[in-house]
Amino acid sequence: MKDVNEMRLEFDSRSCNEGFARVAVAAFMSQMNPTLEEVDDVKTALSEAVTNSVVHGYEGQVKKITVECRIQGQELALMVADEGCGIENIRQAMEPLFTTKPEAERSGMGFSFMEAFMDQVRVESAPGQGTRVYMKKRVGRTACDQ
Ligand code: ATP
Ligand code: MG
Repeated sequence: MKDVNEMRLEFDSRSCNEGFARVAVAAFMSQMNPTLEEVDDVKTALSEAVTNSVVHGYEGQVKKITVECRIQGQELALMVADEGCGIENIRQAMEPLFTTKPEAERSGMGFSFMEAFMDQVRVESAPGQGTRVYMKKRVGRTACDQ
């Protein structure tokens, strides 16, 4: 399609790579003429998804995380994927304050932040099959759109 622009990152599931993924996506979306707030929202949502892959998906093992990013007009679509342990009950996992790691001082708010900062969040996951988080946000609104 003519106005589609896509990129894909693959990196090790080390927490030191979270900053890399945030900055790479922020740089890629800069062509959308986003506000600073929109960039911060996307960076926060992306960080939550990548952290989940590092902490829960792979439980600290070093494997690969993929981030795909697609710009179409004013829509930004992100996908964060791991091939980790997967989620048994997605609906429950997405509830505010639900966490399977309370002892690790997790607050169970990661998915809630993703939903707050993005327009759409969808999760595909199954035990042993890894997890894919799809997110969309309309970015770079002009005054006429509001
Ligand atoms: P916080 O994000 O506030 O530090 P949290 O990570 O536990 O806490 P969420 O990000 O909302 O909270 O995730 C809720 C739960 O969903 C997690 O506790 C975990 O059980 C499960 N989960 C989330 N992402 C993954 C993933 N990529 N692989 C496996 N399980 C996941
Ligand atoms: Mg989390």
